[in-house]
Amino acid sequence: MAAMRLLVGAMLAGANGRRAISRSSGAAVRWGGMAVRVRVVGIVVALVAAVVLFWPRGGRRVSRPVADGFDFPVGAPDGEGYYDAQPFGDNTHLGNDWNGVGGGNSDLGDPVAVIADGVVRFAEDVGGGWGNVVRIEHRVRDVDGERSVESLYAHLDRIEVAVGRRVRRGDRVGTIGDAHGQYKAHLHLELRAQTGLPLGGGYASDSTGYLDPTMFIRAHRPR
Ligand SMILES: [Zn+2]
Repeated sequence: MAAMRLLVGAMLAGANGRRAISRSSGAAVRWGGMAVRVRVVGIVVALVAAVVLFWPRGGRRVSRPVADGFDFPVGAPDGEGYYDAQPFGDNTHLGNDWNGVGGGNSDLGDPVAVIADGVVRFAEDVGGGWGNVVRIEHRVRDVDGERSVESLYAHLDRIEVAVGRRVRRGDRVGTIGDAHGQYKAHLHLELRAQTGLPLGGGYASDSTGYLDPTMFIRAHRPR
Protein backbone atom coordinates (compact mmCIF):
# COMPACT_ATOMS: atom_id res chain seq x y z
CA MET A 1 0.00 0.00 0.00
CA ALA A 2 2.91 2.35 0.81
CA ALA A 3 4.35 1.62 -2.63
CA MET A 4 1.00 2.42 -4.28
CA ARG A 5 0.81 5.79 -2.41
CA LEU A 6 4.36 6.54 -3.55
CA LEU A 7 3.42 5.72 -7.16
CA VAL A 8 0.34 8.02 -7.12
CA GLY A 9 2.32 10.80 -5.40
CA ALA A 10 5.07 10.58 -7.99
CA MET A 11 2.54 10.75 -10.85
CA LEU A 12 0.94 13.89 -9.30
CA ALA A 13 4.39 15.47 -8.93
CA GLY A 14 4.98 14.80 -12.62
CA ALA A 15 1.62 16.37 -13.56
CA ASN A 16 2.25 19.48 -11.39
CA GLY A 17 5.63 19.90 -13.02
CA ARG A 18 4.00 19.85 -16.43
CA ARG A 19 1.46 22.51 -15.36
CA ALA A 20 4.28 24.69 -13.91
CA ILE A 21 6.05 24.59 -17.28
CA SER A 22 3.00 25.82 -19.22
CA ARG A 23 2.52 28.63 -16.64
CA SER A 24 6.15 29.71 -16.79
CA SER A 25 5.85 30.86 -20.43
CA GLY A 26 8.57 33.44 -21.06
CA ALA A 27 9.15 35.33 -17.79
CA ALA A 28 10.57 32.86 -15.27
CA VAL A 29 12.98 30.55 -17.11
CA ARG A 30 14.47 29.51 -13.74
CA TRP A 31 11.03 28.23 -12.64
CA GLY A 32 10.68 26.34 -15.90
CA GLY A 33 14.01 24.55 -15.30
CA MET A 34 12.97 23.55 -11.82
CA ALA A 35 9.62 22.24 -13.09
CA VAL A 36 11.39 20.04 -15.65
CA ARG A 37 13.64 18.69 -12.91
CA VAL A 38 10.62 17.94 -10.68
CA ARG A 39 8.90 16.21 -13.59
CA VAL A 40 11.95 14.04 -14.39
CA VAL A 41 12.34 13.04 -10.75
CA GLY A 42 8.61 12.26 -10.62
CA ILE A 43 8.81 10.02 -13.68
CA VAL A 44 11.87 8.17 -12.35
CA VAL A 45 10.21 7.59 -8.96
CA ALA A 46 7.04 6.39 -10.69
CA LEU A 47 9.02 3.95 -12.87
CA VAL A 48 10.91 2.52 -9.88
CA ALA A 49 7.66 2.17 -7.93
CA ALA A 50 6.00 0.45 -10.91
CA VAL A 51 8.88 -2.04 -11.21
CA VAL A 52 8.71 -2.79 -7.47
CA LEU A 53 4.91 -3.18 -7.60
CA PHE A 54 4.55 -5.21 -10.77
CA TRP A 55 7.77 -7.28 -10.94
CA PRO A 56 6.55 -10.76 -12.00
CA ARG A 57 7.39 -12.72 -8.85
CA GLY A 58 4.70 -15.26 -9.67
CA GLY A 59 6.27 -15.89 -13.09
CA ARG A 60 9.65 -16.60 -11.59
CA ARG A 61 8.11 -19.07 -9.18
CA VAL A 62 6.53 -20.94 -12.09
CA SER A 63 9.91 -21.36 -13.78
CA ARG A 64 11.48 -22.62 -10.52
CA PRO A 65 8.98 -25.00 -8.94
CA VAL A 66 9.37 -26.00 -5.31
CA ALA A 67 10.74 -29.54 -4.79
CA ASP A 68 8.16 -32.00 -3.43
CA GLY A 69 10.76 -33.82 -1.32
CA PHE A 70 14.27 -35.28 -1.21
CA ASP A 71 15.52 -38.86 -1.80
CA PHE A 72 18.92 -40.50 -1.38
CA PRO A 73 21.18 -40.32 -4.47
CA VAL A 74 22.23 -43.99 -4.54
CA GLY A 75 20.04 -47.03 -4.06
CA ALA A 76 17.31 -44.48 -4.76
CA PRO A 77 15.02 -43.58 -3.23
CA ASP A 78 16.10 -44.92 0.21
CA GLY A 79 19.84 -45.62 -0.15
CA GLU A 80 19.33 -49.38 0.01
CA GLY A 81 22.52 -51.34 -0.72
CA TYR A 82 24.81 -48.39 0.09
CA TYR A 83 26.40 -46.87 3.19
CA ASP A 84 27.98 -43.53 4.07
CA ALA A 85 31.68 -44.24 4.64
CA GLN A 86 32.46 -40.70 5.80
CA PRO A 87 29.53 -38.82 7.36
CA PHE A 88 29.23 -35.03 7.32
CA GLY A 89 31.56 -33.48 9.93
CA ASP A 90 33.90 -36.51 10.28
CA ASN A 91 37.47 -35.31 9.59
CA THR A 92 35.87 -31.90 8.72
CA HIS A 93 34.17 -33.62 5.74
CA LEU A 94 31.67 -31.27 4.06
CA GLY A 95 29.56 -34.04 2.53
CA ASN A 96 28.78 -37.76 2.53
CA ASP A 97 30.82 -40.51 0.83
CA TRP A 98 28.36 -43.06 -0.54
CA ASN A 99 29.74 -46.55 -1.17
CA GLY A 100 28.15 -49.81 -2.23
CA VAL A 101 27.95 -52.44 0.54
CA GLY A 102 30.00 -54.71 -1.76
CA GLY A 103 33.07 -52.54 -1.01
CA GLY A 104 36.00 -51.59 -3.24
CA ASN A 105 35.03 -50.67 -6.77
CA SER A 106 31.91 -52.88 -6.75
CA ASP A 107 29.80 -49.69 -7.13
CA LEU A 108 31.78 -48.24 -10.07
CA GLY A 109 29.30 -47.27 -12.79
CA ASP A 110 26.21 -47.58 -10.57
CA PRO A 111 23.53 -44.96 -11.26
CA VAL A 112 23.48 -41.68 -9.28
CA ALA A 113 20.04 -40.07 -8.94
CA VAL A 114 18.98 -36.43 -8.58
CA ILE A 115 17.89 -36.03 -4.93
CA ALA A 116 15.05 -33.55 -5.67
CA ASP A 117 13.42 -31.63 -8.53
CA GLY A 118 15.65 -28.80 -9.69
CA VAL A 119 17.75 -27.17 -12.40
CA VAL A 120 21.30 -28.21 -13.37
CA ARG A 121 23.63 -25.25 -12.75
CA PHE A 122 27.04 -26.89 -13.36
CA ALA A 123 28.20 -30.08 -15.11
CA GLU A 124 31.93 -30.28 -15.79
CA ASP A 125 35.12 -32.27 -15.37
CA VAL A 126 37.20 -30.04 -13.08
CA GLY A 127 39.95 -32.65 -12.65
CA GLY A 128 42.14 -32.66 -9.53
CA GLY A 129 40.52 -34.23 -6.50
CA TRP A 130 37.05 -33.51 -7.88
CA GLY A 131 36.79 -35.16 -11.30
CA ASN A 132 33.33 -34.88 -12.89
CA VAL A 133 31.08 -32.57 -10.86
CA VAL A 134 27.36 -31.76 -11.19
CA ARG A 135 25.63 -29.02 -9.18
CA ILE A 136 21.83 -28.75 -9.06
CA GLU A 137 19.66 -25.97 -7.61
CA HIS A 138 16.50 -26.95 -5.73
CA ARG A 139 13.72 -24.66 -4.45
CA VAL A 140 12.67 -25.63 -0.94
CA ARG A 141 9.70 -24.49 1.16
CA ASP A 142 9.55 -25.59 4.81
CA VAL A 143 9.42 -24.09 8.32
CA ASP A 144 12.47 -21.96 7.43
CA GLY A 145 10.66 -20.39 4.45
CA GLU A 146 11.20 -20.64 0.69
CA ARG A 147 14.77 -20.62 -0.59
CA SER A 148 17.26 -22.38 -2.88
CA VAL A 149 19.64 -25.12 -1.76
CA GLU A 150 22.22 -26.83 -3.96
CA SER A 151 23.21 -30.48 -4.24
CA LEU A 152 26.69 -31.37 -5.54
CA TYR A 153 27.67 -34.79 -6.93
CA ALA A 154 31.41 -35.43 -7.34
CA HIS A 155 33.94 -37.99 -8.71
CA LEU A 156 31.32 -39.17 -11.26
CA ASP A 157 32.38 -41.74 -13.83
CA ARG A 158 29.90 -40.28 -16.33
CA ILE A 159 27.87 -37.06 -16.41
CA GLU A 160 24.41 -37.58 -17.94
CA VAL A 161 22.86 -34.11 -17.54
CA ALA A 162 23.51 -30.74 -19.17
CA VAL A 163 23.61 -27.24 -17.65
CA GLY A 164 20.20 -25.55 -17.72
CA ARG A 165 18.27 -28.81 -17.83
CA ARG A 166 15.25 -29.14 -15.56
CA VAL A 167 15.48 -32.45 -13.66
CA ARG A 168 13.10 -34.46 -11.50
CA ARG A 169 13.78 -36.38 -8.31
CA GLY A 170 15.14 -39.81 -9.29
CA ASP A 171 16.45 -38.75 -12.75
CA ARG A 172 19.97 -39.95 -13.52
CA VAL A 173 22.77 -37.44 -12.81
CA GLY A 174 25.38 -39.89 -14.06
CA THR A 175 27.28 -42.83 -12.58
CA ILE A 176 29.50 -43.45 -9.55
CA GLY A 177 33.17 -42.92 -10.38
CA ASP A 178 36.67 -42.72 -8.94
CA ALA A 179 37.73 -39.20 -10.08
CA HIS A 180 39.95 -40.64 -12.83
CA GLY A 181 41.46 -43.32 -10.62
CA GLN A 182 42.20 -41.13 -7.58
CA TYR A 183 40.05 -43.11 -5.13
CA LYS A 184 38.09 -46.32 -4.74
CA ALA A 185 34.79 -45.54 -6.46
CA HIS A 186 32.28 -43.60 -4.35
CA LEU A 187 29.89 -40.67 -4.59
CA HIS A 188 30.87 -37.51 -2.74
CA LEU A 189 27.56 -35.71 -2.10
CA GLU A 190 27.32 -32.18 -0.70
CA LEU A 191 24.27 -30.09 0.13
CA ARG A 192 24.65 -26.35 0.40
CA ALA A 193 22.34 -23.85 2.08
CA GLN A 194 22.79 -21.45 -0.83
CA THR A 195 23.67 -21.64 -4.51
CA GLY A 196 26.78 -20.49 -6.33
CA LEU A 197 29.31 -20.87 -3.50
CA PRO A 198 32.89 -21.58 -4.63
CA LEU A 199 33.58 -25.25 -5.40
CA GLY A 200 35.64 -25.54 -2.20
CA GLY A 201 37.84 -28.44 -1.17
CA GLY A 202 35.39 -31.02 0.21
CA TYR A 203 36.82 -30.56 3.73
CA ALA A 204 36.88 -27.48 5.99
CA SER A 205 36.71 -26.79 9.73
CA ASP A 206 34.27 -23.96 8.97
CA SER A 207 31.14 -25.58 7.52
CA THR A 208 29.21 -22.32 7.16
CA GLY A 209 26.90 -22.56 4.13
CA TYR A 210 26.91 -26.38 4.14
CA LEU A 211 24.14 -28.71 5.29
CA ASP A 212 24.38 -32.30 6.52
CA PRO A 213 22.94 -34.04 3.42
CA THR A 214 21.65 -37.15 5.23
CA MET A 215 20.04 -35.14 8.01
CA PHE A 216 18.41 -32.77 5.49
CA ILE A 217 17.17 -35.59 3.23
CA ARG A 218 15.67 -37.45 6.22
CA ALA A 219 13.85 -34.28 7.31
CA HIS A 220 12.49 -33.62 3.78
CA ARG A 221 11.32 -37.01 2.46
CA PRO A 222 8.45 -36.82 -0.07
CA ARG A 223 5.04 -37.38 1.48
ZN1 LIG B 1 33.92 -37.01 0.24
